[in-house]
Amino acid sequence: MGEFLTPFRFRDIGEDTSLIVNEVGDFKLFDNGIVGRLFDEALTEDEHSRLRDMHILLQEESHWRITALASRAQNRVSKRSSKLSYMMIIPTLRCDLACTYCQVSRANENAKGFDMKPEHLDLLEKFWTDHAGPKIKIEFQGGEPTLRSDLVLEIMDRATRHFDQVEFAICTNLMNLTQEAKEVISDPRMHVSTSIDGSTTMMAANRTGTTERADRFFNNLRYILDAYGSAKVSALPTIPEDAYDQIEEIIDVYLELGFTSIFLRPVNYLGFARKNHASSLDSTDRWNRAYFRALERIMEINKTQFFEEFYSSMIFQKIISAGTTNYVDCRSPNRYFEDYCVVNFDGGIYPTDEARMLSRTRQVDLKIGELGGEVDLEKLSTLNFSAMNEVHPDCIHCAYGPFCGIDLVDDLSRYGRIDMPKHETAFCKRHLDLFDLLFTKIKERDRNWLDPLMSWAYRKDGSHAPFEVLYD
Ligand code: SF4
Ligand code: SF4
Repeated sequence: MGEFLTPFRFRDIGEDTSLIVNEVGDFKLFDNGIVGRLFDEALTEDEHSRLRDMHILLQEESHWRITALASRAQNRVSKRSSKLSYMMIIPTLRCDLACTYCQVSRANENAKGFDMKPEHLDLLEKFWTDHAGPKIKIEFQGGEPTLRSDLVLEIMDRATRHFDQVEFAICTNLMNLTQEAKEVISDPRMHVSTSIDGSTTMMAANRTGTTERADRFFNNLRYILDAYGSAKVSALPTIPEDAYDQIEEIIDVYLELGFTSIFLRPVNYLGFARKNHASSLDSTDRWNRAYFRALERIMEINKTQFFEEFYSSMIFQKIISAGTTNYVDCRSPNRYFEDYCVVNFDGGIYPTDEARMLSRTRQVDLKIGELGGEVDLEKLSTLNFSAMNEVHPDCIHCAYGPFCGIDLVDDLSRYGRIDMPKHETAFCKRHLDLFDLLFTKIKERDRNWLDPLMSWAYRKDGSHAPFEVLYD
């Protein structure tokens, strides 16, 4: 009975093991040399059977298996939605801080002409009617959105009337908790997202300028945590290269504040960071070393308490769910204006927040429309053609392709082009090393890592699927 092969990808994990992944992200580990044995027709019975389980080796009459595989492959790349379900809105570009790595090149607190105008609000509702579905999550970004809490409240009110279901988030520096800002935050549908770069000294160095202002930030943060509990707030640090050796201290600050999650993030090479943190252009190797050291520390912490690192958790979930997790900064296809977009203070519409930032610094104009006007479908289509790793030569041969994502805007920001060979990009170096690390832990059945990763994936401490489900 004849057999044929379907496409598959492979990569050595250490010296003795090979990872085999099919086109839809099912994976298994084999003894090294499996690919040679496959083509030499020298597979063991067990290897043969495992490759058949993965639909990589198929018998000629099993066409239904091909159809099942093709259908899963098609689902992976088909359109997620024809309507927006997530939107960022920038009520103002003004900000009362001047962080060294500010990505949006914010405007001064008292500058004129950087706030949404009243006429934008009616146009925003029309835009919702034309492009959004019945449910939406609206995230208020800045600048500092609480400088225009009145506008935030007005948009919340209109959204509540417009949509069947709505959730809100506000990304705020928490410097000024005015009465209006407190009113915004008190809405039970509102989630607060803020930046904590570490201790008071670190906050003063990167964000607040003085320790007095850093103290004010921590007082305001404690006020919200006390009033609403830790579930109301998420926080993340932005870590410049000169703080890589203090990454453990940053983790300790989050623990002391009672957070159960941290998203360790290097400086993004955008906006003011291009000048003030120029080394962030090519510091990926150094970042990866610091990040992996931090993960070791976090796995130790998890021996006694639940404490998640968001990014490794998200990547691990992509591995165990065959890439189906939908995190917008690491997914493929990552078609723009499919399920989310950004509306700027001046009514400009952008495919992502980073695209807004690149346009603001005049590197490349990624604006795809304006409130009240048409969306530039030609520009979108040019971007979207390249917005899937399946069209990039390095990625189509990479074992991690089914789990990985694509970030054209990061490539544009760093290299000024979207067709950079992917293995030369910071995005690829960061992810390739992280996938290698996680698959090494899977190969080694390292419980110190796999138990926490599984508990993060299932979002609970205590009983959850054991890590053994990762194997056959
Ligand atoms: S990063 Fe945010 S808080 Fe800091 S200056 Fe920029 S807009 Fe303001
Ligand atoms: S970006 Fe790099 S790690 Fe990701 S799929 Fe492409 S080649 Fe692989």
